[in-house]
Amino acid sequence: MNANTFLNFWKFPDELAALCSVGDGWSAIGCNAPDICRDAIVPKKTLHTIEGSHVYAAVSAHVPGSEWQPMVTSVDGVVLLWSNRLQTRFLFPFDVNEAIEDLLGERYREQDVRSGVLQWLHKSYYKVRRWVPRPVQMGMKRGYCRVQSRLKFPAWPYESSLLWLQRLIAWTVIRASGRLELPHISFWPDGKRLCVVLTHDVETERGVENIAPIVAIEKRLNVRSSWNFVPERYNCDRNILLQLQEDGFEVGVHGLTHDGRLFESEAIFRKRARKINEYARMWGSRGFRSPACHRKYDWMKSGALDFAYDSSYPDSDPYQPMPGGCSSIFPWFLGNMVELPITLPQDHVVFDILGGSVELWRQKLDYVEDAGGLALLIVHPDYTVKPDRLEHYEAFLEHIQSRPGVWAALPHEVASWWRCRANSLLTSGTGLPSVTTAGQDEELGDHAPTVTWLAAGPRPGELLESRLKTEPDFSHA
Ligand SMILES: [Zn+2]
Repeated sequence: MNANTFLNFWKFPDELAALCSVGDGWSAIGCNAPDICRDAIVPKKTLHTIEGSHVYAAVSAHVPGSEWQPMVTSVDGVVLLWSNRLQTRFLFPFDVNEAIEDLLGERYREQDVRSGVLQWLHKSYYKVRRWVPRPVQMGMKRGYCRVQSRLKFPAWPYESSLLWLQRLIAWTVIRASGRLELPHISFWPDGKRLCVVLTHDVETERGVENIAPIVAIEKRLNVRSSWNFVPERYNCDRNILLQLQEDGFEVGVHGLTHDGRLFESEAIFRKRARKINEYARMWGSRGFRSPACHRKYDWMKSGALDFAYDSSYPDSDPYQPMPGGCSSIFPWFLGNMVELPITLPQDHVVFDILGGSVELWRQKLDYVEDAGGLALLIVHPDYTVKPDRLEHYEAFLEHIQSRPGVWAALPHEVASWWRCRANSLLTSGTGLPSVTTAGQDEELGDHAPTVTWLAAGPRPGELLESRLKTEPDFSHA
């Protein structure tokens, strides 16, 4: 990450980058970090708790000077944000870029002994699974889930720590700018408030047979989804893939064999990634989903997977073989790929583990909508075949359609948009704000960026959307 990557989330006017400096374990907004702050020994990274949110960071214990006062303090009394008396200059005693990346890349797991033990249990389970009868497998899975759901971080179903930190940073930037409100490039195009993406992972031959009823529902409601196939587990009939694409659906690659070994070693991962890329080229796929949502941040961001986007990270999900998540309900960059996190509970969690609590889909949708994020769902044609489950799915789609301001898009469209947004520049100056994108017209399609104005509320991190979205002056460089 370079100097001010934390600003890329908001896309404030570009000139504000000059207000912020990050480095040497400190992040300064509206000023330079005082020299006194340099630590001879880098403090250890730990999880700090603040009113239900968590920051995983190496926090410096230095007191920056008498003009500074503590503004945000953890429950253990660790100061996480200092400000001057006027609250126009701010010091985070840690590297905010690193703190954000450590949450996205799940580096907090490295410090968590319990999650280490769970990972080991899970690896061992995959090795013996094929000899374990199905009912015993389900019993083991439920027991394992009970342990996982007790992990205090990331919280489930709502994990808001990352958003809390991003809002706190935005709040300090607005205050430090000396302006009452700042424009930022809205998260979604055309003034939309919520983005919804539907995906399906076809696990087995049985799943292939059950594609039709789900496709029928989606066609009836005039929505489209992406379908992820496992190239070397069952016969991936090219005609089925082509038909889906012809009907406006998207086809992605779901691992290679789905045997739980993709990340067993770096050599296996790289060897399989080459084959996976070949299938992607053959199928015209732009998206990848890892089997069982297995993931390894450093390998995946290395560029070995040649896809426009990945969608293997839950924001938070204790019920998957690999518990945890990236804590984000917005897309983010995983190396060259746009990561589209899975932010709604999976169908088998809702139906099989929690006994049919579909209300959870609606509740999580409300939560994501409030934050203006990405609601991304996986429904498996292997499990969601019984009429009652299909009815629940259809009712949920109708519920989504009843909401105003929804951008229902295919995952590759969302990835393109997120890339364009990242490559756009917002200039505000004195007149209307203007957005310039760099030569990517074809990716942007008919979608146009809008601008949202944010004001800093009285409490640290409290943001107020102070005006309706405005059409910026829009041009291509
Ligand atoms: Zn799968």
